[in-house]
Amino acid sequence: MEFPMSVLKSFIAGQWVGEKPAKALPSAVNGEIVAHTHDDTLDFKNAVEYGRKVGGKNLMAMDFQERALALKAMALYLQEHKKELYALSMHTGSTKGDNGIDIDGGFGTLFSYASMGRRELPSGNVVHEGPVTPLGKNNHFAGTHILVPRGGVAVHIDAYNFPVWGMLEKFAPTFLAGMPSIVKPATSTCYVTELAVRLMQESGALPEGSLQLIIGSTGDLFDHLEEQDVVTFTGSAATARKLRNHPNIINRSIPFNAEADSLNSAILAPDVTPEHEEFDVFVKEIRREMTAKAGQKCTAIRRIFVPKDQVNAVCDKLKEQLSKITVGDPSVEGVRMGALASIDQLEDVKANIQELLKTSELVVGGEGNFKATGDGTEKGAFIEPHLLLCRNPENGCGAHDIEAFGPVATVIPYETIDDAVELCSRGRGSLVTTLTTRDPAIAGRIAPLLAAFHGRLHLLDAEAAKESTGHGSPLPMLKHGGPGRAGGGEELGGIRAVHHYLQRTAIQGSPSMLAAVTREYVRGADLIETDVHPFRRHFEDLQINESLLTHRRTVTEADIVNFGCLSGDHFYMHFDEIAARDSQFGKRIAHGYFVLSAAAGLFVYPGEGPVLANYGLDTLRFIEPVAPGDTIRARLTCKRKIDQGRTSPDGHPQGVVVWDVQVHNQNDEMVASYDILTLVAKKPE
Ligand code: NDP
Repeated sequence: MEFPMSVLKSFIAGQWVGEKPAKALPSAVNGEIVAHTHDDTLDFKNAVEYGRKVGGKNLMAMDFQERALALKAMALYLQEHKKELYALSMHTGSTKGDNGIDIDGGFGTLFSYASMGRRELPSGNVVHEGPVTPLGKNNHFAGTHILVPRGGVAVHIDAYNFPVWGMLEKFAPTFLAGMPSIVKPATSTCYVTELAVRLMQESGALPEGSLQLIIGSTGDLFDHLEEQDVVTFTGSAATARKLRNHPNIINRSIPFNAEADSLNSAILAPDVTPEHEEFDVFVKEIRREMTAKAGQKCTAIRRIFVPKDQVNAVCDKLKEQLSKITVGDPSVEGVRMGALASIDQLEDVKANIQELLKTSELVVGGEGNFKATGDGTEKGAFIEPHLLLCRNPENGCGAHDIEAFGPVATVIPYETIDDAVELCSRGRGSLVTTLTTRDPAIAGRIAPLLAAFHGRLHLLDAEAAKESTGHGSPLPMLKHGGPGRAGGGEELGGIRAVHHYLQRTAIQGSPSMLAAVTREYVRGADLIETDVHPFRRHFEDLQINESLLTHRRTVTEADIVNFGCLSGDHFYMHFDEIAARDSQFGKRIAHGYFVLSAAAGLFVYPGEGPVLANYGLDTLRFIEPVAPGDTIRARLTCKRKIDQGRTSPDGHPQGVVVWDVQVHNQNDEMVASYDILTLVAKKPE
């Protein structure tokens, strides 16, 4: 038997599986069949075992830094092939702008995690989450925390609206954490995800077993999950509830992260009126959120809170703006809004509009004369933007409960800004709210109230609008996810997302043991002291705990005067005998920055050597004052080494070395404490 259309394949246990067609997946634009899911049964027991054994092992053969580099390589490869993804994605109803969000947004997330991983994660596979806390009086026993790869697999179930970004925003932090992923895209748009996974495979940057793909049902997958595994989910609240309550998830305490429906909102504060620039900015933001991805964004604005006396002005302006939106085949020039992802979704959205209309009236849309632009679009899943108005929210308002997952939003009037906050809270927890105000005092008072039931707040005024990334765009470095109805989960948020796939464990022991486990010098650990100055060692030769105790230097008044003249810092504490005597120190003291400089003078090796640059200081504290006559000395200890695989501008390989510096006085009191960050050359080949 020949099949007219391609059959999508799952990628399970290193094999592409799928021969026989099952469900036909029609184009959202013209109803033509794009592909079929496959009818072949998948062996999920084997898939999870393979993920843990093969994928897990291969990922653990790399470290955080190497995985970050691999993510970048994948992102570069995907970027080279983005046109293939664009072309296919058009069938999901996506316009060029929508592809920018899903496809380019997905690549951007990979790039972002690659760069955050290199900047913020260590070499090796142990994250030390300090600080170390002494647990005994004499520093023989201390405690700290480490984060380590969990050893299981992560199952990621995604929604239909973002077939590329949805997968990549979950995959990137999982991969960095060293955990293999099994991704299950929503069936209706899974052909785009399948292509993305094929390209990731082709990139050569994916270690075997680190990514598997399920086309179609998850079958008995959940029965095979174990305590070390993780499940993340994006989709409807009903499915989230069902999966979260799977007996195996409950019995084994398997972490389950959900991102579900959310009735996000935008609030126009009472200080903004039509003559203000902010009024237009507010309306534009709503227009954009209603029409981008045809309103199929988990973050899209569903409820628009406006002061009672501004209702007509807002509705009129939105009507004008929405009338300019051409809806139709995304490949046709001039089309600004595409289709919903499927006919099923179209029916769903229409039914939800009818529900909303029980407490609202129509302002835009639904006149019955709508026709999408383009050939064959009568078979597509098109709908025009619908703006509703709920005039009397005190008599009940369906918009607080019903999510029409399309270009649909409801204007809701309020009396006072506090009423707006109360009405907003009726959404029972949301992903994001935009508060548009010109007044920082309003933002300062209202934002903390809104924050209690939101995952993200977007404060929009004319200044922010110049560069705003938008209400609806989750960013890799900021948290995505919201409380309550929004699922109660948390994604993205920078390196926090990587931590979701690592196990946090408290470690107690002697400083030397803690240093061995964290791969970082811990004060009190046994030091390594040799005749060679640590600054003369290349990156590879330096050992954690390698240390230098310097000679001493007595600080004089001349030092203070010279440093004051050199720096221009004539602060009274250093130069006014009388004022200094009246101060808490009771005498003149040296500049803290002089102590830093003097310490550098004590510990640096002045000759040419492998230390290439000092690029900063961390955790600086001046602990005790240093006065003329005090004698200081420094201890410099190799604390942390990070191999980012970087080279200097002239091509020499180098690594990052962080040094612990302690400066003591003649009474053995610590006067200054800090980390210095250096670049150290690797050995010449
Ligand atoms: P679903 O919750 O049905 O589907 C979401 C994902 O879960 C899909 O991958 C789906 O796969 C999968 N899934 C469904 N049932 C199971 C199951 N029993 N076991 C394992 N996986 C399962 O959401 P829909 O896609 O149908 O969308 C419904 C509504 O959800 C939308 O109209 C909207 O209101 C909301 N939604 C919210 C999103 C958000 O980001 N917050 C995103 C998308 C939708 P399959 O497709 O194969 O069924």
